[in-house]
Amino acid sequence: MSAEYTKLTAAELAAGLAAGDFSAAEVTAAHLAQIEATNDTLNSFLCTNDAALETARKIDERRAAGEQLAELAGVPLAVKDVLVTTDMPSTSGSKILAGYMSPFDATVVAKARRAGLVLLGKTNMDEFAMGSSNENSAYGSVKNPWQTDCVPGGSGGGSAAAVAAFQAPLALGSDTGGSIRQPAALTGSVGVKPTYGAVSRYGAIAMASSLDQIGPCARTVLDAGLLQDVIAGHDWHDATSLRHDWVSMAQAAREGAATGSLKGVKIGVVKELISESHTQTGVLQNFNAALELAAREGAEIVPITAKHFEYAVAAYYLIMPAEVSSNLARYDSVRFGMRVDAASGDTVADVMSKTRAAGFGSEVKRRIILGTYALSAGYYDAYYGTAQRVRTLVQRDFNEAFAQVDVLAAPTSNTTAWHLGERTADPMQNYLNDATTIPANLAGVPGISVPIGLAAEDNMPVGLQLMAPQYEDARLYKTGAAFERLIAARDGKMFWQRMPALQSVKAGA
Ligand code: GLN
Repeated sequence: MSAEYTKLTAAELAAGLAAGDFSAAEVTAAHLAQIEATNDTLNSFLCTNDAALETARKIDERRAAGEQLAELAGVPLAVKDVLVTTDMPSTSGSKILAGYMSPFDATVVAKARRAGLVLLGKTNMDEFAMGSSNENSAYGSVKNPWQTDCVPGGSGGGSAAAVAAFQAPLALGSDTGGSIRQPAALTGSVGVKPTYGAVSRYGAIAMASSLDQIGPCARTVLDAGLLQDVIAGHDWHDATSLRHDWVSMAQAAREGAATGSLKGVKIGVVKELISESHTQTGVLQNFNAALELAAREGAEIVPITAKHFEYAVAAYYLIMPAEVSSNLARYDSVRFGMRVDAASGDTVADVMSKTRAAGFGSEVKRRIILGTYALSAGYYDAYYGTAQRVRTLVQRDFNEAFAQVDVLAAPTSNTTAWHLGERTADPMQNYLNDATTIPANLAGVPGISVPIGLAAEDNMPVGLQLMAPQYEDARLYKTGAAFERLIAARDGKMFWQRMPALQSVKAGA
C-alpha cells in the first residue's frame, strides 16, 4: 500500500488525512522511500530533511488530539533550493553557497510549515536559477522522469521532476523568465507563476528582483491552487509584496472542473508566440487540439497580435543580467558562503576575486559580465534604458490584448524536452527557448502551464501556457482546470496518470 500514497494528489492526501484513512507519517515515509529509490537516477533532490518523519508524527499527534488543522496539514512538500531554510542547506545550485545555513526561513517556507506541510527536502536547480535545462547546476544535471537521457527543463527542473516522478505531490519553484512553467511543460506537470508580488520573495535567493516570482508546482491544477492559497499574501518583509484580498485559487480550480466552464471564455492566441519554423510539430498539434476542445465547449478563440513580444527575449537578456550583476555582488567571500584562502600578499580584493572565480559557474559569470557591461557608464541608456522601454511596450501589448480577451494562450515551450548535452555548446539556444514564457515576467502578469498531451514524434509531454491580467490568477486556475478536464475526458484519465516515471525509474525494481 505504502507506494500508493505517492500516487495520490495533494487534494486526495489532504482528504484521506482528515478522514483518518492514513497518517502523515505513513505518507511521508512513502515519499521518502520513493526519493530513496529514484534519486540516484533523477538527481532531483539535493538533500532530504532529517526531521521530515518527526514533523509528520507531530502533525498526526495534533490531529489525534482534536486540533483543527489547515487543509494541507501532513501533505509533503519539496522546496527549490533557491528558498532559504533553517534546517537544511540553501545553495541555490551554486558551489559558492555550498553548505550555507540560513538563520531564517523564507516567508513561503514559514507559511508552509505553519500550514502543517511536511518539508521533504531541497530540490536541484540551475545555478542561481540561470538556465532552461538544469545543466547549469553545480551539483549535476537533473534527469527528466519521462526519458532519463533528456533534460527536465530549468531552472526548476528538480521541483518539476520531483512531482512528475511521485517523489512529492507538491513543490515550490521560482520563475524569473519561465523557471516554473517551462519545466512543468517538459515534465508533464502543472506550474504556476503568480502575479508579480502575489507571493513573498523574502528569503528567495535573488536572481533578478523585478522579475523573480515564487509559485507552486504540482500534478494537478487544483493541487497547485491549494498550495498558492497557502503561500500568497502580503508580507512586510518584501517591499514589492501586494496588499490584495486573494480569492481561493483552489476554489477557482474546482469551478473550472465543472463541465461547461469554458463557455463564452475568450481565449486569445498570440501569433508572435508561435512560429512555423521554431515550434515543434508535435507541440503545435497538441496546442491546436486543445484549443479545438475548448472551442467545442463554447470558448471563443481569438487571434491576437502582440507585436513587441518578439523583442522580449532581447530585453530580458539585458534587464535580467543587469539585476543579476547587482544581486550577486553580495557573494564577496565575506558575507556569505565560500572563501578561498588568502595566499601570502593577497589583498582583500584578490581573495574576493579568487573566491568568485572558483565559486561561480560559467553561465553565472557570463551574466554578471553581461550585466555589468549593460550598466556601465556610456552604455547604460543604449542597453538597459532601451530594454526598459521595450518592457513598457510589452506591457502595453498585454493591456491591449486583455481589452479583447479573457486569457492568452500559447505553447509553454516551443519544443519538448531535449537530450542532455544537446544545447550546452550554444547558450543562445537555451535563451531562445524562453521566448514563450518571458513576456509574462516582463509584464508581471500570471501564467500557468498545464499538460495537454504527448508529441507524436518523441512521446514527450507538451504544455499549454495560459496568461491572465495582473491580479487575475484565479482566472488562470479556473481556465487551466477546464483544459485539464477536457484533456482527461479525451484521454480517459488525468494526464499525470500517464506518467511512466514510477515504473521505469525505480532503480532495480
Ligand atoms: N531560463 C531563463 C533563464 O535562464 C529563466 C530562468 C528563471 O526563470 N529563473 O534566465
